[in-house]
Amino acid sequence: MNLFETVTEMGHEQVLFCHGQDPDIKAIIAIHDTSLGPAMGATRLWPYATEEAALQDALRLSRGMTYKAACANIPVGGGKAVIIAHPEKKTEDLFRAYGRFVESLKGRFITGQDVNLTPEDVRKISQETKYVVGVEERSGGPAPVTAWGVFLGIKAAVEFKLYTQDLKGFSVAIQGLGNVGQNLCRHLHEQGAKLFVSDISREKTEQVKRLFGATVVEPNEIYSLDVDVLSPCALGGILNSETIPRIKAAIIAGAANNQLGVEALHSQMLAAKGILYCPDYVINAGGLINVYNEMIGYNEEKAFKQVNNIYDTLLEIFDKAQKQGITTNDASKQLAEERILKARHLKTMAAA
Ligand code: NAD
Repeated sequence: MNLFETVTEMGHEQVLFCHGQDPDIKAIIAIHDTSLGPAMGATRLWPYATEEAALQDALRLSRGMTYKAACANIPVGGGKAVIIAHPEKKTEDLFRAYGRFVESLKGRFITGQDVNLTPEDVRKISQETKYVVGVEERSGGPAPVTAWGVFLGIKAAVEFKLYTQDLKGFSVAIQGLGNVGQNLCRHLHEQGAKLFVSDISREKTEQVKRLFGATVVEPNEIYSLDVDVLSPCALGGILNSETIPRIKAAIIAGAANNQLGVEALHSQMLAAKGILYCPDYVINAGGLINVYNEMIGYNEEKAFKQVNNIYDTLLEIFDKAQKQGITTNDASKQLAEERILKARHLKTMAAA
């Protein structure tokens, strides 16, 4: 990889390689764009096969955070950090050393919990830096807020595509009944939607069947159901050349990150089938909005109110896509880029 060429092409401002021998630490902090505010992005710990794979992950995910924050219309930029380590090698010293690197950026980067980190690990990082969010005692877990945003996103998509605001009798297939999926089921059930669900955990499917009268299907069956909405709330990469031809739903609207296997190709395949795709980083921004509110002094009511904007943002994106004949994925990128350019322009004017 030609490092500076890649970073320039992707638009990153700064990439920090964190290294130490005692404790042994290898981490990468990628700051993509701070035009809108300090870069926010959770920290992932993963035993990457190569250092290049770790760097690619940090670069790709931090850029995604910039778009997510811009579409959510909150004054933060995009960042991401990866610690290259096996989960079995986690120690307090490792997290504290990492926390000192975060602190050294003096608030240009604010982080939280991602894959393989627990709330306890985040607490260890926070012993060395105040630039940490998502601490459970302060704002609670983000999942209920994320689920509320996804629910509103489904409503916006149903209004745009199926011309109604009433979800009564509409069928929704939910893949994944974790923290977000179960909260989403509750909202949809309260509105009278018919639920079809799958999870690899039988305990979870039985619970949702009992609580919300959902019909349980096998994990692989979820794609081909004849439903109005498919809501991926489990894994990334599930919208691909194998699954898209099987999808009968008119709308895809779910919480999972990076749902499109290959962004350009698979968003185009969905559009060609007339399926309305809600860009994942727009509809699932509730978690980011929640931690942003933690940063400015948590107020649950205010956080939920900001999440309500996801509804209008998605309608704006659908409209843009339809008018310009582009995919919703491209329309959301355009919206994000417009907001970033405007912020840069205002900064330049203020400095002049
Ligand atoms: P979670 O880990 O609580 O739940 C994921 C669920 O998916 C689990 O119940 C798991 O058993 C199930 N699952 C795994 N493989 C499956 C398969 N093949 N078929 C069906 N189910 C399967 O995660 P979560 O917090 O509910 O988040 C759900 C998704 O949304 C994740 O992709 C996450 O990255 C994304 N997301 C979450 C938040 C948040 O606030 N929690 C915010 C933004 C994005």
